[in-house]
Amino acid sequence: MGSAEAHVEAGGRSVRISSPDKLLFPDAGITKRDLATYYADVADGLFRGLANRPVALNRFPDGLGGKSFFTKSAPKGLPDWASTAHVTFPSGRTGDEVCVTEPATVLWTVQMGTLELHAWPVREADTDHPDELRIDLDPQPGTEFAEAVEVAREAYALFEELGIRPFVKTSGGRGLHLLVRIEPRWTFVQARRAVIALARELERRRPELVTTSWWKEERGERIFIDFNQMARDRMTVAPYSTRARPDAPVSMPVRWTDLGDVAPGDFTVKTVPALFAENGDANAEIDDTAHSLEALLELAERDEKD
Ligand code: ATP
Ligand code: MN
Ligand code: MN
Repeated sequence: MGSAEAHVEAGGRSVRISSPDKLLFPDAGITKRDLATYYADVADGLFRGLANRPVALNRFPDGLGGKSFFTKSAPKGLPDWASTAHVTFPSGRTGDEVCVTEPATVLWTVQMGTLELHAWPVREADTDHPDELRIDLDPQPGTEFAEAVEVAREAYALFEELGIRPFVKTSGGRGLHLLVRIEPRWTFVQARRAVIALARELERRRPELVTTSWWKEERGERIFIDFNQMARDRMTVAPYSTRARPDAPVSMPVRWTDLGDVAPGDFTVKTVPALFAENGDANAEIDDTAHSLEALLELAERDEKD
């Protein structure tokens, strides 16, 4: 018989986990308690990526394999210490999403059966101006993670020319996400233009490797830079979040110097705590500098004149 409840602590707050022995990832043998403990183990890196961001929750109350709910509006039963962030959707409608104000917020999402946290690229104080550029590198059929790594490196070189320091994480799926901390003073439309400009320049430099074609038939065996991911109400899975897949993969920040030596399958709920304890958060310096978007917006302007 399992115990009726457990308490797991992160960032100085203890969160009640009911049915702690319930399997959330049945194939991997990972319980609710295991998942909450995982997030407590990586709390420092997890919170760096999520602090004061509105999040949508992909919830599986009966575990993977059971019914699921993609929840944007904050679910009922939010603890009194937790809070929400007010966001505006593309339609103009507004809503209140769970806001991660401390690591324990994530533990509470586990209590709610969450297997994936998807974060807005904004903070609660200003949900109309992104503070993070996200570049979604999607391997198309015939390409793999290795090609995504090659594109990431090409992007790194271009960012370096522009004086911008990018960070990188696995998606927990097949590809990679690049992250750039920006000053929160441009609109979603401008942030998307900046990503499109970057993507088109990479496509010009490496046409055999990169595509920005919206039409799948035209993409070929290349890495698609999914620029539509940088838009209002488009989220990206949070760093250290699990993905709802049988082996409990994790979206893992990676140092640029390590990128050539990793595979997405290296990072799961079972492997990441030890890696994190040993190496710390590969994105620990992401908040050091908030970059200007001007260089990329100039590139966009040149692009649009051509
Ligand atoms: P991969 O590397 O395999 O592409 P990914 O997480 O980047 O994995 P995408 O399909 O490129 O997957 O989607 C990018 C992001 O968009 C995801 O990280 C997730 O936050 C969000 N997303 C994708 N599909 C959905 C969906 N069906 N519902 C909600 N959010 C989604
Ligand atoms: Mn992707
Ligand atoms: Mn995508």
